[in-house]
Amino acid sequence: MAIVPKKHPLPTQAPEIRAHNFREVAAVYPEIIAVTEAERCLGCKNRPCVAGCPVNIAIPDFIKKITESDYEGAYEIITQSSSLPAVCGRVCPQETQCESKCTLGIKYEPVAIGRLERFVADRHNERSQMLPRPIKPNGHVVAVVGAGPSGLTCAGDLAKKGYKVTIFEALHAAGGVLIYGIPEFRLPKSIVEKEVQTLKALGVEIQTDIVIGKTLTIDELFEYGYEAIFIGSGAGLPNFMNIPGEAYKGVYSANEFLTRSNLMKAYRGETETPIMKGGKVAVVGGGNVAMDAARTALRLGAEHVYIIYRRSMEEIPARREEVEHAQEEGIDFRILCNPTEILGYKNPDDPRDPRNGFVTGIRCIRMELGEPDEKGRRRPVPVEGSEFTLDVDTVIMAIGTSPNPLIKNTTKGLSVNSRGGIIVNEAGLTSRDDVYAGGDAVTGAATVISAMGAGKLAAKSIDAMIMNKDSKNE
Ligand SMILES: Cc1cc2nc3c(=O)[nH]c(=O)nc-3n(C[C@H](O)[C@H](O)[C@H](O)COP(=O)(O)OP(=O)(O)OC[C@H]3O[C@@H](n4cnc5c(N)ncnc54)[C@H](O)[C@@H]3O)c2cc1C
Repeated sequence: MAIVPKKHPLPTQAPEIRAHNFREVAAVYPEIIAVTEAERCLGCKNRPCVAGCPVNIAIPDFIKKITESDYEGAYEIITQSSSLPAVCGRVCPQETQCESKCTLGIKYEPVAIGRLERFVADRHNERSQMLPRPIKPNGHVVAVVGAGPSGLTCAGDLAKKGYKVTIFEALHAAGGVLIYGIPEFRLPKSIVEKEVQTLKALGVEIQTDIVIGKTLTIDELFEYGYEAIFIGSGAGLPNFMNIPGEAYKGVYSANEFLTRSNLMKAYRGETETPIMKGGKVAVVGGGNVAMDAARTALRLGAEHVYIIYRRSMEEIPARREEVEHAQEEGIDFRILCNPTEILGYKNPDDPRDPRNGFVTGIRCIRMELGEPDEKGRRRPVPVEGSEFTLDVDTVIMAIGTSPNPLIKNTTKGLSVNSRGGIIVNEAGLTSRDDVYAGGDAVTGAATVISAMGAGKLAAKSIDAMIMNKDSKNE
């Protein structure tokens, strides 16, 4: 049979339509297309795609099940390694992970592994109303801090072994960045809510509105009898550029902007949100977060949205697909540019002028690429005398985040690195006995799948530690 050289495209909303709604951009593969795409897999012996997946899903095996129309069989294979397949099928950077290793990709386009994962997960979620039954308790209790992908995965894996797990979450909703960061048009909230329901059905308790480090400390959790603690508190502290004007009204961190949009349900037509109305918006940065903020601003009614990125299109760190979607929707990319100042309205004659203190523009300088930095990326260098101003009403800073120091500052003996990431060993154990950590809280801003992988590792280590103590006490 002749090989189909290209991935089957996903049915996608037209850019001019989707730019004005929060519905998911791409639909799932219809069954017939999923089977035809699965048939592109060569089923090669050395299975390089598995090594390319941070949680080592048995990719050729689940794809083979699709070719046999055994979709539940495919789901079972995926969920042996991944607890959030409907999420990962949508947001994982497969192009730099499993798909980048696909043998078919040497000559043609790789198999669309992520799209097939989504097909299997969505089909399962649509048809199966069955929730897992709670497992027989093993008498041990573990606390998890944070209900993001690392915490949810750690909790799920431990609950499946009979542990009584309580997740303490600072916000009022579980899901972490999946719920308050990634917008509805890329990852519908219902998908994450379904995964959370599955976890609750396993017996995991989720206590929301509890900030560890304020409401309770790590030491107090031990006093309450928890035998081990996993910290999966993410990297929610936004970075700023420290340029003049960042305190003007209308300057947001992408975190704040997206959290307010997601948690205040700005994606629902009937909800009023005070984040922004119309006007021109500049988003600073070139990662997934910048793309999400820019595309959200467009959907909230911005009349023009700029992305300001200091390197070239080749270095842009966001997923290629997200950049293409943003371009199709009309986002105006100003690459090789860097902001130097945010401009605001000042009326010295009338300090009560209501326009005082609001953003009016952003001053930028053009950049060129110089010598490579320590990561091998060419360093952007300002071009003298090339400053220019863009008139904007809102500026969104999407230049990265760091782990919040709150837990470190309230937990004795918890070591962090120079970037604030909690230091762990190869088992996920921190410098404190029985305290484990993983995900963005350790690595700084990374990916969903790596956070899940860290949650899995910690669950395994916690189980080994507690079972080891048990066997000594026998
Ligand atoms: C806008 C955006 C888009 C992204 N897009 C992608 C993408 O397309 N693909 C991809 O793979 N990755 C993407 N990422 C990155 C990915 O979402 C993260 O790497 C991942 O969510 C990290 O998981 P985590 O569990 O470590 O932390 P988080 O998801 O940040 O979850 C941490 C949880 O801990 C809670 N918490 C924090 N402090 C405390 C405390 N003191 N007490 C109690 N609870 C606390 C937080 O409220 C949060 O719920 C994106 C990130 C953002 C912000």
